[in-house]
Amino acid sequence: MSTLRFKAVEEASKRTPLEVTPPTGIPSEYYGKYVFNRTQMSKYLSKETMNIVLEAIDQGSTLHRGIADHVAAGMKMWAMEMGATHYTHWFQPLTEGTAEKHDSFIDYINGPDGGVIERFSGKLLAQQEPDASSFPSGGIRNTFEARGYTAWDPSSPAFIIDDTLCIPTVFISYTGEALDYKTPLLKSLSAVDKAAVDVCKLFYPDVKKVYSYLGWEQEYFLVDQALYDVRPDLILTDRTLMGHESAKNQQLEDHYFGAIPPRVASFMREVELEAFKYGIPLKTRHNEVAPNQFELAPIYGETNLAVDQNLLIMTLMHRIATKHHFKLLLHEKPFAGVNGSGKHNNWSLGTDTGIGLFTPGKTANENLLFVTFLVNTLKAVYKHNGLLKASIMSASNAHRLGANEAPPAIISIFLGTQITAVLDKLEKSSKDDDITVDELKRMKLGIAHIPEVLIDNTDRNRTSPFAFTGNRFEYRAVGSLANCSSAMTALNSAMAAQLIDFKKEIDAKIKKGMKKEQAIFDTLRLYIKESKAIRFNGNGYSEEWKEEAQKRGLDCETSVPLIYDRYTSKKSVEMFESIGVLNEKELHARNEVKWETYTKKIQIEARVLGDLCLNHIIPVATEYQSMLLDNIYKMHAVFDKEKANKLSKEDAALIEEIADHISAIKTNVDDMVEARKAANKLEDAREKAVAYHDKVEVYFNVIRYHVDKLELIVDNQMWTLPKYRELLFIS
Ligand code: ADP
Ligand code: MG
Repeated sequence: MSTLRFKAVEEASKRTPLEVTPPTGIPSEYYGKYVFNRTQMSKYLSKETMNIVLEAIDQGSTLHRGIADHVAAGMKMWAMEMGATHYTHWFQPLTEGTAEKHDSFIDYINGPDGGVIERFSGKLLAQQEPDASSFPSGGIRNTFEARGYTAWDPSSPAFIIDDTLCIPTVFISYTGEALDYKTPLLKSLSAVDKAAVDVCKLFYPDVKKVYSYLGWEQEYFLVDQALYDVRPDLILTDRTLMGHESAKNQQLEDHYFGAIPPRVASFMREVELEAFKYGIPLKTRHNEVAPNQFELAPIYGETNLAVDQNLLIMTLMHRIATKHHFKLLLHEKPFAGVNGSGKHNNWSLGTDTGIGLFTPGKTANENLLFVTFLVNTLKAVYKHNGLLKASIMSASNAHRLGANEAPPAIISIFLGTQITAVLDKLEKSSKDDDITVDELKRMKLGIAHIPEVLIDNTDRNRTSPFAFTGNRFEYRAVGSLANCSSAMTALNSAMAAQLIDFKKEIDAKIKKGMKKEQAIFDTLRLYIKESKAIRFNGNGYSEEWKEEAQKRGLDCETSVPLIYDRYTSKKSVEMFESIGVLNEKELHARNEVKWETYTKKIQIEARVLGDLCLNHIIPVATEYQSMLLDNIYKMHAVFDKEKANKLSKEDAALIEEIADHISAIKTNVDDMVEARKAANKLEDAREKAVAYHDKVEVYFNVIRYHVDKLELIVDNQMWTLPKYRELLFIS
């Protein structure tokens, strides 16, 4: 009998919800308590310093070193009062998650004999040199001159975790190339700001800044810690590489609407309380479709800050889950046969004057602005649909995309019937019409009166990877594990480049004597026609759509390593370089990192799968098989030959079945190991990743099929790995 498994099941079943005591005071009192936010700044910085910092945050102006000294002094005082003894630059290398290197505040006063003092200067705040040779850089930074540095990002406030002051930073090489996610994100945000302001000025000359907003929805799974501990695949790969579907999983669709299990509710409460202390405005929490799957989402905010908050909350969730005897799974597809997890990125643009650029307005002018941004988005996403897909692709998210419950691996935009109707009318309006804003109503284009109820419009298409949802676009293809920066950088960059093109066209037409509105209409009409292929309101899961998308020329590639090529296509390089977000060298280097990461992930999965087969599955199956054989012998000892044969017919058949599965597993594992060896010999990162995709990963499902069959056959008492029905239903 498999004692480990049953002990774990028993342990899990005995758990009770953890008591969570809320902090004293009302939320507004502890909200943001661990963050060096504007309130704290006003207490610890001089008015003059504070104003300069705020200007740097709001207008992106450069901070002087002298100012950094002042900020560092204030920050240190606050942090020490909060009990912090260390500080770290908190950055986002091209791996998953965040990285940090903690240094103590203490320093010798005058050489080693002079005692110690807490020191934290502007220099230490502004710049640090982590020994970064072990962070992936795609060859930009050679290991022998392992020098990259982190530099303070004042636009995302510092915060305290335990005893450490964490300072959000960018991570760049000495020659200035981005080695992280944050650097290009910040550049893309500033590019889209500038480009969008120029377009807004056509309508509202007083617009000075355009913000990119992000509201992420984080999906996740929880499993009991004890069960997790006896699933080596979960421990090492964050997903189950085997496991037969539970007889009941999500067929009844009862989890989504069900009550949150008490243990989970208690976990959620604590996550919420902690999030508030970090100024993360969590707003919703609920069950998701799959058993053990949940979601939380904050109120949306400025994109750079929202990304940091998402990274921070993933860290907090891991810690709090452990405390509640759960293990948090952020993998996009931890369990086969039930839904995977995504991280919908709700994205919009808005002006400093309070206009939401994807929000239909009340006047014709507002709506023309709205349609302008909407149509430019269509064009940008159409033009860069392959790149956008590349920005969300990973070894783990690949399991989710294309599977029947998630956005398909083809980027298309859902607009809904009303907006589609408006664009259709606009497209068909006569080219020779001399349109002014006042004439919009007369023209009956629908633009003047896009219904205000649109925001509550619920006919949302859940199968669309990129959907317009009333006042924003919801980029649903992003994976639950992802750093949102990747998707947000690609999207904001594509949009920035598109808006620049648009403005150029308008300017050229005006120069030729066209009226402004006429120029805008003329251009939008053209864009609507050109970008039509990206619009799809139908069922994104259907086979017909795959064929149709192919015909439309949309990117239908599904191989992860090949999709990364979109980053270095001429079109993408030109786009990124034209707005100064990433250069060709960086794009190539970053792809190297992506290929390496992909290879490593598949390599680890292949090893774990092979080990589990050889050490867990085959021995147990063989043991059961020998029990059956034993039984047959005993039958023959007791009964005459004919009767014994008759009575052991089923056992004999099972023995053969088991033998077949074992042999299939053995052969495929052997072949997979050979394929891995061959792939490992390849030097080129891309070739190697392609080999892992085409030659190694292809064995996973075949092997799994036979293992899962054995799971059904072998005596339940002997099976060592917790089964789906045990892993998936927290009570
Ligand atoms: P649903 O699951 O129905 O899509 P949720 O309420 O779970 O909706 O999440 C919606 C997310 O979209 C929230 O984070 C919300 O703050 C965000 N959001 C709402 N309006 C905007 C907007 N204009 N720009 C960006 N994000 C937005
Ligand atoms: Mg949503």
